[in-house]
Amino acid sequence: MKTTYIQKLGLVLKNYTDELGHLVFTNSCLHCNKELVLQERYLCWVCWEGLERTFYDEQKAPTILDKLFWNRVEVHHVCALYFYDKGQVSQSLIRALKYEFKAPLGIYLGEHMAKHLQTHPICAVDAIVAVPIHPKKKFARGYNQSELLARGISNVWGAPILNSIAHKRKHTASQTTRDRFGRWENVQNLFVGAARIANYRHVLLVDDVITTGATLESLTKAIKAVDPTIQISLLSFAFTK
Ligand SMILES: [Zn+2]
Repeated sequence: MKTTYIQKLGLVLKNYTDELGHLVFTNSCLHCNKELVLQERYLCWVCWEGLERTFYDEQKAPTILDKLFWNRVEVHHVCALYFYDKGQVSQSLIRALKYEFKAPLGIYLGEHMAKHLQTHPICAVDAIVAVPIHPKKKFARGYNQSELLARGISNVWGAPILNSIAHKRKHTASQTTRDRFGRWENVQNLFVGAARIANYRHVLLVDDVITTGATLESLTKAIKAVDPTIQISLLSFAFTK
């Protein structure tokens, strides 16, 4: 039977909406691009298994991540769930979270982290603070990825998220030589803590990836400057080996 004009138009529209659906609802693995089956979210099960766990949450002895903060700031617990490595699944997840406008992924990963750590003493926090990012990055991205992780963690543990708890210190003359983003991420004593943080006893600082730990160190110092008795714990999705 000869295809009518209406049928042809229907096929074109169907192809168009399928493509649109594919763009809107990610249904392929963020790492290997394999088509996902119904129960799989963001990654196929092979790639979920391919995420390299640190198992720091199960170690009794100090980990490399604990040692990263020694002689810098006093922290209660430090944990990262996975290792971050170039070309690996962890990088695909973080890349999607940062550059592909995937806000629901951030909440999903936050909930995933929180569920893994539900029996760990780190979950006994009474407030959650996301590491701030440069306002221009937040504007371009539409969100701060660490805030999304924090929201997911809060959904599972129930601890409230504290917003605007630390603001950026005003630039000093010595900082003007660095580029704007470098200054944001590298300078010590970058933040000033808000007085209301003193209402809390154990605060969790959340970041997506820990590399040098400089931003978390700076934020911890700002909170401890308000009240040195506040316990601070640090949690990130991944840690750069
Ligand atoms: Zn995959």
